[in-house]
Amino acid sequence: MDWLREKIGKIEGKGLFRSLRRIGSPHGVEIEIDGHCLINFCSNNYLGLAADSRLKEAAREAVERFGAGSGAARLVSGNSPLHEELESGLARFKGAEAALLFNSGYHANIGVIPVLAEEGDVIFSDEFNHASLIDGCRLSRAKKIIYRHNDLNQLEGLLQKPPLPFGERVGVRGRRLIVTEAVFSMEGDLCPLKDLLGLAERYGATVYLDEAHAVGVFGEHGEGLAARNPPPRLICMGTLGKAFGSYGAFIAGSKDLRDYLINRARSFIFTTALPPAAVGASLAALKIIQEEPSIRENLWRNVGVVGGMSPIFSIKIGDAQETMEASRKLMEEGIYIQGIRPPSVPEGTSRLRLTVTATHTPEQIERLVTCLKMI
Ligand SMILES: *Cc1c(COP(=O)(O)O)cnc(C)c1O
Repeated sequence: MDWLREKIGKIEGKGLFRSLRRIGSPHGVEIEIDGHCLINFCSNNYLGLAADSRLKEAAREAVERFGAGSGAARLVSGNSPLHEELESGLARFKGAEAALLFNSGYHANIGVIPVLAEEGDVIFSDEFNHASLIDGCRLSRAKKIIYRHNDLNQLEGLLQKPPLPFGERVGVRGRRLIVTEAVFSMEGDLCPLKDLLGLAERYGATVYLDEAHAVGVFGEHGEGLAARNPPPRLICMGTLGKAFGSYGAFIAGSKDLRDYLINRARSFIFTTALPPAAVGASLAALKIIQEEPSIRENLWRNVGVVGGMSPIFSIKIGDAQETMEASRKLMEEGIYIQGIRPPSVPEGTSRLRLTVTATHTPEQIERLVTCLKMI
């Protein structure tokens, strides 16, 4: 297996070698790394729910009632009333007819996109889409077209063209699927959803919206960037591991969509159902998100201090090694912001990606702003 050493050497040579850091505390605003207490500014735990006592209690109760594992795939013998209760709650939350759980956002994206776009169809994908969306597109047999980030003019031009050039097999259906993130995970900017839906309407396309960083954060009730009661041509994916502080993901859409995905989405069919603890914790989070808007208000107050469109901020440095050096310096100041390098972001755009959450104190945010001026 000498080739492994060689491959690793090449990654190291480019300054792109990654390794795991051990977090020795519950996931919160203050975390312990190698015996040091740091303020965590690189978490997706936007509402601070990951270690919330109510989620922990709900997880414990779910374990007492249903055990540690769910034992099988949902279609075999792994489906419980908890799974269904969470799905109907999420459907109401999104104002959709139905919702279907997936084990993670990654599972959802790689499972659903190939079902929505098949051979003969065309996928239009934003150039900054998350790796899991890219993989979902790769698994589809549809033709893939990548458009410039949030560039709806270019997208419209592409939609105007006939589905496939002469010579290629023109699909009987020729459906079009636009795939985008709602809040871009590495940039922190938003997709122009209203205009995008207008385009989709004009050209008969469907929009697949990844709301991983939007649910729990945007919307009057935390429902995300997409308003409640989404139009039929909008399919929303939300995750439960970020603002929800738990684990899992869901698709919100029509009842037909749910039925069809249960029958066709391979990452739903061929995997063990989410464990009861995760489902129980998600149910508790759903309740808190809908009933306690004050948590979201704290989040947006902190976002306002730093000044941005979402809780995600991107400080581009460019060079990978310099980025990691900046991250290391901040750690010495007691601030933890992980450096982000290719392939998570395009070559030459390595950056510090930082996030603020509802539970950071004003003093911690001040400290962040002061320290950022140093780099
Ligand atoms: C985190 C993330 C995912 C994956 O979700 P998981 O539940 O963590 O697997 C998908 N899409 C985007 C945009 C993400 O940021």
